[in-house]
Amino acid sequence: MDSAVVTDRDEKWRGVPKVATTAEEIAAAAGTKYTISPSVTGVQMAMDQGFKKIGFVGTPCQIQALRKVQLLEEPYQFGQEKIGLLVGLFCMENFEHELLFPHLVEGKFGLKAEEVDKFEVQKGMFRVLSGDKVKEVPLEETDEYAWKGCGPCFDFAAELADVSIGSVGSKAGWSTVLTRSDLGAKVYDAALAAGSIEETAASDKGLALAGRLAKSKEERFSAKTAELFSRGVPVNIRR
Ligand SMILES: Cc1cc2nc3c(=O)[nH]c(=O)nc-3n(C[C@H](O)[C@H](O)[C@H](O)COP(=O)(O)OP(=O)(O)OC[C@H]3O[C@@H](n4cnc5c(N)ncnc54)[C@H](O)[C@@H]3O)c2cc1C
Ligand code: SF4
Repeated sequence: MDSAVVTDRDEKWRGVPKVATTAEEIAAAAGTKYTISPSVTGVQMAMDQGFKKIGFVGTPCQIQALRKVQLLEEPYQFGQEKIGLLVGLFCMENFEHELLFPHLVEGKFGLKAEEVDKFEVQKGMFRVLSGDKVKEVPLEETDEYAWKGCGPCFDFAAELADVSIGSVGSKAGWSTVLTRSDLGAKVYDAALAAGSIEETAASDKGLALAGRLAKSKEERFSAKTAELFSRGVPVNIRR
């Protein structure tokens, strides 16, 4: 790859697509931003900058979008053959910036966006870290801030990615990695051989947990779509 599209953030914790060309630039964009980000526009930015073998990291919905454009033929060509590698993140849901920050981060936790160091989801709690302060609520209490489009989403483990990565199923400090294509396996093996990553076998219990979450997301999708159709949604679509 000659470039990697990752998601950085501004001081308000809005996701900002970034074209990285060094390991340091990639690492500088580490950390989960729990709000919807226009990350895929970073692919166009990378093309505009002249890159020809572009790697992309993002949520399952973003991976689906990019995999689908790879299938497009004439006349719908805009350079999608330059998308070289898709790295997908596990994702149960994401949040709406305009709800999460005013209502939870600022409203309930009393923190300004600029004061937040890190977000994390652990053991059923949604946590915000700020200096030595840790503020948290049970994950269920964040439902009202979720991005509505995440309800009817069925893909937990980025099934169309070359490599999928998540925290579920692994001990703290490790990631669960699924290689899904020959390219994904090649990249993973090369990183291992170069000593860039370390490997330890995933536990059956950890993989079973990831499998259960994937299943529960599919069930949520079925329930949510049934509810939407019973209400006559999509109501805003006009012919
Ligand atoms: C919205 C969201 C929900 C997630 N939900 C789960 C989950 O339910 N279970 C689970 O096991 N893992 C989940 N993850 C993945 C997890 O948070 C870690 O990203 C993953 O385990 C990789 O760990 P890491 O330390 O290597 O990540 P890092 O080194 O921190 O890299 C994270 C990568 O994610 C990208 N990124 C960050 N925020 C966004 C965003 N909003 N949109 C697109 N890309 C982004 C960054 O560019 C970076 O490249 C989620 C990630 C996101 C972004
Ligand atoms: S739950 Fe689905 S739609 Fe929502 S951010 Fe994750 S992959 Fe995208």
